[in-house]
Amino acid sequence: AELDPTDRPEDLRPRPPVVTVMGHVDHGKTTLLDAIRKSNVAAKEVGGITQHIGAYTISFPHPERKGELAQITFLDTPGHAAFSAMRARGANVTDIVVLVVAADDGVMPQTIEALNHARAAGVPIIVAINKMDHPAANPLKVRQQLQEQGLIPDDWGGDTIFVELSALTKKGVDKLLEMILLQADLLELKANPNRPAVGNIIESGISPGGPTVTALVRKGTLRVGDALLCGPYYGKVRALINEDGERLKEAGPSVAVKVLGLNGVPEPGSEFTVVEDERKAREIAEQRQEALRTRAAETRAK
Ligand code: GDP
Repeated sequence: AELDPTDRPEDLRPRPPVVTVMGHVDHGKTTLLDAIRKSNVAAKEVGGITQHIGAYTISFPHPERKGELAQITFLDTPGHAAFSAMRARGANVTDIVVLVVAADDGVMPQTIEALNHARAAGVPIIVAINKMDHPAANPLKVRQQLQEQGLIPDDWGGDTIFVELSALTKKGVDKLLEMILLQADLLELKANPNRPAVGNIIESGISPGGPTVTALVRKGTLRVGDALLCGPYYGKVRALINEDGERLKEAGPSVAVKVLGLNGVPEPGSEFTVVEDERKAREIAEQRQEALRTRAAETRAK
């Protein structure tokens, strides 16, 4: 999405797509993300509390290129807050929006809202017509409704990919992944993996091991041992953990990983950078802490 003049064209390499799933409440976003992740989070929800995972990267054999691994990163942005926050910060981290529309329910207010978000961000949209197993499924109606919104299905002469699926039975989910890879190929996504990592915090919190963030690398490669600077916080990367709880040595462009090692909890959406060494990271972080304290004192004095 972003071209850095300091990255020479010859340094750029293909990178996986970053996908945000959006749609009206109850149209099946959680079930779809879960079907993709295959770990059944929605079924484990107790008392309506969604166990949220902000971002994860899946790897699977490429459906068309034998011997190649395909990767896709999914962002799950509750209320589209992180999506908007990052756009406001000038970081368009999403490459593709998957718009989930339930085949029985059709286009609803939040469908239009999500459509507007995606359009404002200038991101291509893939429509996932979900709940195709439902007796009241009416995919034709969904196509007509979205056509009225200017999303013309490719099989009707337009340029929007529509995929019919059921997140519940998983039928059509593979097809959606294929279409995401196809759309990603068209976008020719690239980044320089051979530079200090830069990216965004998708979610943050405290775990028994201390502050934990889910970081999305935009460019460069994040490694265990790197000196990390994120807003007024810093630290040395102690561990990188993927979606399956496995420890990684490094995470390249477009990959989402859990990061342990920061000395505080940064706001979702904030940018992180890798700097030369921990001393430098600490110096800048402390300057920022000081600036925040000054600003807070000024606000109190008013
Ligand atoms: P979200 O609010 O968009 O995250 O929607 P959920 O994933 O929580 O799904 C809302 C409801 O729709 C749940 O009861 C799901 O079991 C159901 N649902 C989701 N996908 C499908 C599907 O493909 N077919 C059917 N029949 N129901 C589904």
